[in-house]
Amino acid sequence: SKSIAGESGFKFYAEEMNQAVREQMQIESSILRGLRAGEFFACYQPLFSQDGKKLVGMEALARWQHPTLGLVGPDKFIPVAEANGAIVQLGDRMLELALQNCKQWREQGYPHLTVAVNVSTRQLKDRQFAERVARQLQMVGLPPDALCCELTESLLMEHSNENTEQIFRLKELGVKLAIDDFGTGYSSLTYLKHLPVDRIKIDRSFVNELDSNPDDRAIVVAIIAMARSLHLKVTAEGVETPSQHQLLQELGCDTMQGYYFGKPMQREAFELFLLNGAQLLAGEPSDPQPEQ
Ligand code: C2E
Ligand code: MG
Ligand code: MG
Ligand code: MG
Repeated sequence: SKSIAGESGFKFYAEEMNQAVREQMQIESSILRGLRAGEFFACYQPLFSQDGKKLVGMEALARWQHPTLGLVGPDKFIPVAEANGAIVQLGDRMLELALQNCKQWREQGYPHLTVAVNVSTRQLKDRQFAERVARQLQMVGLPPDALCCELTESLLMEHSNENTEQIFRLKELGVKLAIDDFGTGYSSLTYLKHLPVDRIKIDRSFVNELDSNPDDRAIVVAIIAMARSLHLKVTAEGVETPSQHQLLQELGCDTMQGYYFGKPMQREAFELFLLNGAQLLAGEPSDPQPEQ
């Protein structure tokens, strides 16, 4: 065959492309297999009270221990799972794990812990979704308000009735609802008026430069003021420094999440974190806890 100029360069490029495409295809074709094989698991990131002294719960974050690709993060597989529908099974699995672990830790001496799971719009299109959540809660033996469903703002943009129907069903059940990554979508304010949410989570892009960027600070102040007048709770995500925490506390943010308080941890590590935390907060566990 004839040789053309730049062929080897093209080959090199094509091989890199091939590898990225192959990896993508490998991910796409093996999510369901990985689910059946139990390769997906939950990491837990702690959520702390306003003063940073009390653990109030955790968010379950999906991870994949892939046999050849190694540990794969959600940015690689969630969009693929959303596109091919596997997110429905993956979401069920995450919910199952999150509820089981929350129940277990409640029984081990942390009776007020709550757990948050991320829910994709694709899952809300399933008309049985809220019912399945109710059944899972019942099977595990947790009250509905132990669970918070985090909905991603940008996805809620598709204002379809099928989505909002399941959101209202969840609300009726008594499950808590949060808007994740608040401030990054397009019509944040419009749907806040239409959806029965309990909490907003300020996107970490606004928290990042809170100390140094007056614009970010103004935005956070405005979000918290708005949340307060709508009787919504506010979580800050991506809190990495003590000064960010202090500022957010002063501004009235009621729950904190971020590397400063703890990174996402595998189950066993989170259990150690619980044990250490109980020591750090000496005296707290024996304080009378108000029934919720
Ligand atoms: P998210 O729900 O907004 O979760 C927070 C993400 O921010 C997590 O990334 C967490 O590790 C990261 N993070 C937390 N604190 C800090 C911090 O202080 N600094 C920095 N730089 N990052 C921080 P992760 O685990 O990679 O998850 C990424 C996204 O993937 C999640 O964002 C969520 O939208 C999605 N996701 C994860 N698990 C699931 C799942 O089970 N179902 C669905 N539908 N989506 C999921
Ligand atoms: Mg989330
Ligand atoms: Mg978020
Ligand atoms: Mg995020």
